[in-house]
Amino acid sequence: MNNTIAENLSKIKSNIPDDVKLVAVSKTKPVSSLMEAYQLGIRDFGENKVQELLQKKMQMPADIRWHFIGHLQRNKVKVLLPLVYLIHSVDSFSLLEEIQKEAKKIDRVISVLLQVHIAQEETKFGFSYQELEDFVDQKKWSFFPNIEFKGLMGMGSNTLNIQQIELEFNLLSRFFDKAKKEINTFSELSIGMSGDYLSAIRYGSTMIRLGSVIFGNRP
Ligand SMILES: *Cc1c(COP(=O)(O)O)cnc(C)c1O
Repeated sequence: MNNTIAENLSKIKSNIPDDVKLVAVSKTKPVSSLMEAYQLGIRDFGENKVQELLQKKMQMPADIRWHFIGHLQRNKVKVLLPLVYLIHSVDSFSLLEEIQKEAKKIDRVISVLLQVHIAQEETKFGFSYQELEDFVDQKKWSFFPNIEFKGLMGMGSNTLNIQQIELEFNLLSRFFDKAKKEINTFSELSIGMSGDYLSAIRYGSTMIRLGSVIFGNRP
């Protein structure tokens, strides 16, 4: 079963509410595939490597919103900032400090999501709930005038056990609702990938990040 990108997208769109934003995760895929999605109306693309994003941005139309979804190293921040619409994967205070510093230099305000470690695996990046509670209670966003905190991002456990993933989404979603009352720039909850996006939407996702269900499996 090798469906076309058009078939995949139309199926996905019939499955999701209009107000859920779709980010097409195009990492590892050739520009020709991105162009196909673009011609079908996609304007939000997600990449996880700075160099790859840069290369693709140079070859693609200018009205695309580029989302960065991968682990970001501090020494890549300077290159990324002028290219990116939203960074989903801010996972440490040292990274926030670097983004603040470089954003100030170019006199911009950069939109970010805080990545929350919600999965069972040790290896996934992100803030703990405890760190985020401190962030909210101590109003730490005020230390970063060149950063707009737009919300939270999470990745569920890498498991076929959908109940486990829904438990994680539920917790994150409830934390998001609480945090939203304190941080008035919070509006986005980025949860849901190819295997779990319908669950994510049930738990309040505003932004889903879909790769393989659009473009096919990656090598
Ligand atoms: C690769 C990736 C996705 C998309 O994964 P699929 O399972 O192919 O939909 C979403 N989010 C992040 C952070 C990723 O790295």
